[in-house]
Amino acid sequence: MIPRNKTGNQIRTYFTNPLELLEKLHLTAEQMLFSAEAVQDFRFKVPAAYVDKIQAGDPDDPLLRQIFPVHQETLLTPGYKKDPLNEADSLSQPGLLQKYYGRALLLVTPNCAINCRYCFRRHYPYEDKGHFWKQIEQNIEVIKQDLSISEVILSGGDPLSLSDSRFAELITMLETIPHLKRLRIHTRIPVVDPEQISDKFLKILADCRLHIIMVLHINHAQEIALDSQESILKLHKQHISLLNQSVLLKGVNNNVDTLAALSEILIENNIIPYYLHMLDKIQGSSHFEVKDNDAKIIYQQLRAKLPGYMLPRLVREIPGKKSKTPIIF
Ligand code: SF4
Repeated sequence: MIPRNKTGNQIRTYFTNPLELLEKLHLTAEQMLFSAEAVQDFRFKVPAAYVDKIQAGDPDDPLLRQIFPVHQETLLTPGYKKDPLNEADSLSQPGLLQKYYGRALLLVTPNCAINCRYCFRRHYPYEDKGHFWKQIEQNIEVIKQDLSISEVILSGGDPLSLSDSRFAELITMLETIPHLKRLRIHTRIPVVDPEQISDKFLKILADCRLHIIMVLHINHAQEIALDSQESILKLHKQHISLLNQSVLLKGVNNNVDTLAALSEILIENNIIPYYLHMLDKIQGSSHFEVKDNDAKIIYQQLRAKLPGYMLPRLVREIPGKKSKTPIIF
């Protein structure tokens, strides 16, 4: 376990050695089907705050399954690709993605607080494409020139991996663009490492003239422990619209009771259950796949159990399509 300095922010602690994590959780490499090759392919990184939510001694813990590198990741499965959404070809220029009308997506950092093994960007060529801070001014210039853009989406990586001061710089550049109305932030940090939501960060959001929508990524109710609830409440008190997107993942949340419990705790914490995504077929993630027929049964059961406002939309991302594709059963 190593402490890392998030420039300008407090020091955070991460696990970067899977075997060290297993020791802490009283589990063995054999029990978990650990693969060192999988780690070479996609780095292992988990905040200590997330590890605290994992049940020691349980190899099937739904949080552990999301982050632990296993041998199935090294298998080549037909239909699974390194860039399943053809994102590398959708860039209008490095770090700027414009696939939806009226919106522009800025890749502001390659870094995340946590590495989720099913991530659809786990093989993304961040270095080749140079999606880093140095591109930001040119990309903001493109947004300035395009009067059709009313919403900017910050993505990465996780945009909250930026230091607070760099994040403030970014917000200042964006809010001076007169035709921008909304800022959408896709992040997992309020849940996986909630203490990163600092008072300074909250003040930056409070002072911003844009309507801020934060799209969280939470897959299981167990992820919303007390520390996450406190951070989420602070965001809610800043009048930030909070939505959630989950991925339907085998062994994590592929049953009706788990998904219903997730919607319950989201609503209790002022978060709207927004999307339930089918897995993007990224190479190394096929062991997480829930087949369409099984998804259909789970979703029908969920619809029967929950009021409409608690039911996330089941969607799939199809490369080349101008919006997510709803799956209607
Ligand atoms: S936090 Fe999001 S972008 Fe980062 S690894 Fe997880 S799913 Fe991917």
